[in-house]
Amino acid sequence: MSEKQPAVTQATLVKKAAPKSDYKPADVSPQRRVQRSFAVRLWSVRHSRLLEWFYSRFADAFLLLHPLWKGIGYGRVEAPIKFVEKRVKGFMFDCRMCGQCVLSSTGMSCPMNCPKQLRNGPCGGVRANGNCEVEPDMPCVWVKAWEGSRNMVHGDKILDVQKPVDQSLRETSAWLRVTAQAAAAREAAQKPQNNGASA
Ligand code: SF4
Repeated sequence: MSEKQPAVTQATLVKKAAPKSDYKPADVSPQRRVQRSFAVRLWSVRHSRLLEWFYSRFADAFLLLHPLWKGIGYGRVEAPIKFVEKRVKGFMFDCRMCGQCVLSSTGMSCPMNCPKQLRNGPCGGVRANGNCEVEPDMPCVWVKAWEGSRNMVHGDKILDVQKPVDQSLRETSAWLRVTAQAAAAREAAQKPQNNGASA
């Protein structure tokens, strides 16, 4: 009977690829360095409730500024807003700028970090320790999404079925899109009232 081979982790590969010399950085193992790369995104999941609250206020503020965005032109403000959004969300969530953000439905865990880019739950390959089958050192984004969603007020939005990713929206600002859509919905809701008043 063949002996079971130990799994090759990303940390092992990093260690093997490291140049051999007498110098070893103090107290920093390759394993810990790999884990650190997920530290901020895991913090965001742990604080999903706080971020849910903050995002809601932030979206309100952006909607309040709709006349300004409209005055300047959504097309013109896209580049600077996208510049900020990419950096902020890149730092907080390892955002991949899909342009159709679902963080509020996925426990503040970005599904685009799933190597298979699944938007509706995990594949069947989640490891027993809750890590990804493709990247063994990375916690499965959907395991984390479920954990994060359990802390949130509207966490059951994780049960909503998400549409397939629209690749034409990549590298565009989700903040501006959500604002423009909310403003359009608000104007559409006000129209019948205005018509009624003028009738
Ligand atoms: S869902 Fe899309 S926009 Fe939201 S954090 Fe992930 S890649 Fe970025």
